[in-house]
Amino acid sequence: MKTYYDKDASLKHIKNKNITIIGYGIQGRAQALNLRDSGCNITIGNRNDSYNNQAIKDGFVVKSIDKAIIGADIVLILIPDQAQENVYNSYIKNNIKENTMLVFAHGYSIHYKKIIPPKNTDICLLAPRMPGEPIRNYYLNGGGVPAFIDVYQNFTGSAWNMILALAKGIGATKTGAMHITFQEETETDLFIEQFLLPLIIGAIRLSFDELSKLGFTSEALLMELYASGEIGELILKASEIGIYKVWEENASPTCQFGIYNNLDRVLNPKNTKSLIIETLDNIRSGKFSKELEIEAKNNYKNITKYNKKNNQSLLASTQENLNKILKTNK
Ligand code: NDP
Repeated sequence: MKTYYDKDASLKHIKNKNITIIGYGIQGRAQALNLRDSGCNITIGNRNDSYNNQAIKDGFVVKSIDKAIIGADIVLILIPDQAQENVYNSYIKNNIKENTMLVFAHGYSIHYKKIIPPKNTDICLLAPRMPGEPIRNYYLNGGGVPAFIDVYQNFTGSAWNMILALAKGIGATKTGAMHITFQEETETDLFIEQFLLPLIIGAIRLSFDELSKLGFTSEALLMELYASGEIGELILKASEIGIYKVWEENASPTCQFGIYNNLDRVLNPKNTKSLIIETLDNIRSGKFSKELEIEAKNNYKNITKYNKKNNQSLLASTQENLNKILKTNK
């Protein structure tokens, strides 16, 4: 595993290239603004809607997706993963030229072969480990967010120079652009979404629901669980000093003993290990990907239902109450 920094990358490899960014959402806007500020020549490809208007307002040349591809040397595909296969087949495939570099911010479409690109192109990964807002803000403050990079197909022989230049252009090499494969990026990203996040959200939801039923004051409970921001602050600190050190240095002996005494009880290692393997198996076998495809075909019916139910929950109304109660400087 190698990590690249500013000294390893040169913007000269992309300065005179025509760079097209497909999508002007969370990633698209931030990456486009940073690359433009790094001196690159950017065209946006988007459907004619509110994202399109935002890109025009930000001063970009905006074209329909197929037109934006024509003549592009580098194409960053920054639309949701589920939309990529169809957009690629409808607007990109027949308009890319030999030597074009296609760049993805997540390995999904390439790893699961939703997109099978022509052999005479370069295929790269530039996957920032943050949403758009920090990508832009860190850059404006002279820094950058870390990213994963990879070269899957190097037809021109210049793909490494170019992807490093793009990583520098968005600010990622200020912190570090780490090389891992498309496969590893896809699998770890999906694993976090399918194991760690459900674990955290589920633990908060269950704790809130059960303790509320037992008569605890919901607003106070929510504040303890996460809404004071204390745990968020500690996790942020952990990103600098480590998940163990942060509690060692900031928590009382009562808290530390509570953690020590209960960690294996609340998250039984034997059961949890098999859950980890099962989650990874679902990702690797393509089971999750198939389920996601069905969900997308059904217009995300289950997610819509899940969000609706959550928005009508006691936790959601408690959050609203708490926001009115607490004077915040967040
Ligand atoms: P967004 O949901 O923010 O993308 C919105 C953009 O995609 C808009 O321009 C939208 O335009 C366009 N779009 C959506 N659906 C379609 C469609 N069917 N056809 C054409 N255009 C469409 O996506 P993200 O920025 O979150 O994700 C982009 C990529 O970045 C993904 O591969 C994702 O995995 C990756 N990524 C995302 C991160 C994040 O923090 N969000 C972090 C790291 C990687 P329209 O108005 O036309 O729909």
